[in-house]
Amino acid sequence: MNRILTGDRTTGKLHLGHYAGSLQNRVKLQDEYDTFIILADVQALTTHFERPELIRKSIYDVAIDNLSVGLDPNKITMFLQSKINAIAELTVFYSMLVSVNSLRHNPTIKTEAKQYGYDDLSYGFLGYPVSQTADITFCNADLVPVGEDQLPHIEQGRKIVRRFNDLYGKGKVIIKEPQALISNTPRLIGLDGNSKMGKSLGNAIYLSDTVEEVNIKVKSAITDKNRISIKDKGNPDICTVSKYHQAFSRDEYENICEMCRNANIGCVACKELLSKRINLILEPFRERRAYYEEHLGEVGDIIVNGSERANKVGNEMVESVKKAMSIYIS
Ligand code: SF4
Repeated sequence: MNRILTGDRTTGKLHLGHYAGSLQNRVKLQDEYDTFIILADVQALTTHFERPELIRKSIYDVAIDNLSVGLDPNKITMFLQSKINAIAELTVFYSMLVSVNSLRHNPTIKTEAKQYGYDDLSYGFLGYPVSQTADITFCNADLVPVGEDQLPHIEQGRKIVRRFNDLYGKGKVIIKEPQALISNTPRLIGLDGNSKMGKSLGNAIYLSDTVEEVNIKVKSAITDKNRISIKDKGNPDICTVSKYHQAFSRDEYENICEMCRNANIGCVACKELLSKRINLILEPFRERRAYYEEHLGEVGDIIVNGSERANKVGNEMVESVKKAMSIYIS
């Protein structure tokens, strides 16, 4: 069975954007692949190094978010990045094989640095594609499910692996070159129309939100501002609510757009439909969440057992890497 590596940074609870863009697909992939899920607490430090308490708390939040959407602990290997020594070791080895200039010119690094407002990048932030390559390769993952925006990271990782194999492999493949598994789901925008979603922006619906919270948030969503009265024809192409219908009410989406364009539905009713749809999706998640919140010890065991399995795989990998580099002493 081929292996995939996927996961989340532990910088806060996951929202519907994470679900639409990644988690929904992850639930399907767990039946087809040996699914490794990284709780990326070290990677979280690249941007949240001043908030270790948030990172620590988010480990359980993110784990429960993943379990609540239907990831089955008997099928997946969920592990904590900071517990995997192989990742740290490989990051050091790989850092010798990549130039600072190539990292500086990585388009994803440039975009993310701009988003975070960094002029002067930390060594850790700049090297994030290197540590990400270690995350992917420590377990010899075949595939990495990513959005298009993450492709430059994967390409950079593939180059590092190629360089390693060319230098030390003596004709053999020591480390597999990971492939991207592109997810073509459209990126969900914030309820306020902002392309970024997050707690500080207050524009996201969280997987842990209650029915009431969902209803209130959907009511506040930005619609077609030119549609003043119910008799005005609307334009769903510029409406946030319609983007959410596209993601979560696919069977009704065309019909809703048509009704909006012909002024056959008001924005209040349209939002009520959306709230109902989102709550329907979140309902089974809430049941599973309630179980895991009552059984936090079980969540801890899932992470510890997953980390043990990941460490076993990673230690074997590092051993063969060190042997290839002739820095192995038996
Ligand atoms: S009817 Fe729906 S899609 Fe049209 S503007 Fe109102 S909320 Fe948006």
